[in-house]
Amino acid sequence: MATFRDYMSAFLYVLFPYNCLACGGVIEQGEETICSICRINFPRTNFHLDKENVLAQKFWGRTKIDYAISYVFFKKQNNVQSMLHYLKYKDAPEVGKLIGNWYGQELLENDFYKNFDIIIPVPLHPKKLRKRGYNQSACFGKGLAEVWEIPHLEHGLKKITNTKSQTKKSREERFNNMKKGFTVSNPEEIRGKSILLVDDVITTGATLEACANLLLESDAKTVSIATIAATQH
Ligand SMILES: [Zn+2]
Repeated sequence: MATFRDYMSAFLYVLFPYNCLACGGVIEQGEETICSICRINFPRTNFHLDKENVLAQKFWGRTKIDYAISYVFFKKQNNVQSMLHYLKYKDAPEVGKLIGNWYGQELLENDFYKNFDIIIPVPLHPKKLRKRGYNQSACFGKGLAEVWEIPHLEHGLKKITNTKSQTKKSREERFNNMKKGFTVSNPEEIRGKSILLVDDVITTGATLEACANLLLESDAKTVSIATIAATQH
């Protein structure tokens, strides 16, 4: 039987139909945040099926990554870009959680998730965190952890310095600068664990490289990487 709340939500939906945060279209009542057409058509990477995928290759010779996976491909002006923009700049942390849930469910199928003991997000500097109100990578991590029922250590890594503009520096300078910017909160939580390090989108990989090296130095058993999106080459 329909409750008062159902009537209210139907009424509000007529007044303020929700728009999909990926394609901008009006979404069906009962759907949330991202429409089912976008969900079906997202350009999936399927990186989990190939341990030597292009993303994993990006880290060869830089750090030891067990698995490197991404949910979808990022292209300029595709709906993935729009979705990430909402997640990062438009106060929509629910996008990260939802994508984490969806990706988590897809990776349940072949027991892929069993490669990981804990999830740790790439941290934001406290100042940035205060400004945004949430860590978008942690939203994604929480979504995955919820489906897989494994711990999500939101503050497993900490960012300690505010790295200034990185664009004018060489890759090596950038990396050294980055590495100094992170610290492990509690090495006991890391030791002997297979860790999935999560981030929203991968570009140069310098941040993930620095965090992965730090976790390995803290005696993590393995470090893998998962991002919502990766650029397609
Ligand atoms: Zn859509």
